[in-house]
Amino acid sequence: MANQKGGVAKTTTTHSLGAGLAELGERVLLVDLDPQACLTYSLGVDPDTIDASLHDVLAGRAEAADVVVKSGDLTALPSTIDLAGAEVHLMTRTGREHALARALKPLLGEYDTILIDCPPSLGVLTINGLTAAGEVIVPLQCETLGHRGVGQLLETIGDGRSFTNPDLTVRGLVVTMFDGRTRHSRELLADLDERYSVPVLGDPIPKSVRFAEAPGRGRSILTHAPRSAGAEAYRAIARILHQENR
Ligand code: ADP
Ligand code: MG
Repeated sequence: MANQKGGVAKTTTTHSLGAGLAELGERVLLVDLDPQACLTYSLGVDPDTIDASLHDVLAGRAEAADVVVKSGDLTALPSTIDLAGAEVHLMTRTGREHALARALKPLLGEYDTILIDCPPSLGVLTINGLTAAGEVIVPLQCETLGHRGVGQLLETIGDGRSFTNPDLTVRGLVVTMFDGRTRHSRELLADLDERYSVPVLGDPIPKSVRFAEAPGRGRSILTHAPRSAGAEAYRAIARILHQENR
């Protein structure tokens, strides 16, 4: 999940699609690549209480398999604020873009899907995410400012393809926090796939206060408000991913 803009629901989308895929029986690993550790918190894991994190893995001090934590049906590679230092640490090493890909390699056989939650920047951590991934999903908010950076992101993905990951593809856009009551957002939605020539996955995720409540309880929207429109919208996208992957 990548978008250099903050607050477009990357973390929410990672957690919700992970929960949706787990409901379908997949073995899911969530990777928190953001030093702010919002995904780790939202899984009910307090970064202050864990012995080792993704930072130790990227710094070569620990194996990913020894750092993963369980949260219900999901497994996660947690983050802590130390990961902010990884930017600097990785910056000084050659092959730095491949650190995450290398770290995840031993785990590939153990999971059906690995979802990576990128930080809100196009720095070395996001590049590591794009290098490790087979596909990118771009969550975006359907208002002008929300998707102004998407063109730039797609360019970065293009660069990543030529330099570190020739096989990287864009799986699609997920329209988040959608308020279909305004004509403006309906119009923006209508020309999205044409504008970027990438598919829009499923239907827009509706804006709802239920989303703000879930992380504090260490749950995804799928368990916090299982029958809500937001949970169903994420389930529908998880079904699309699951079916296409089989
Ligand atoms: P990002 O990871 O891109 O920075 P987050 O997933 O942390 O974005 O979401 C930003 C905020 O928006 C969070 O407080 C989250 O609870 C809220 N949010 C996410 N999706 C929705 C939604 N569909 N409706 C309302 N609020 C949402
Ligand atoms: Mg986030």
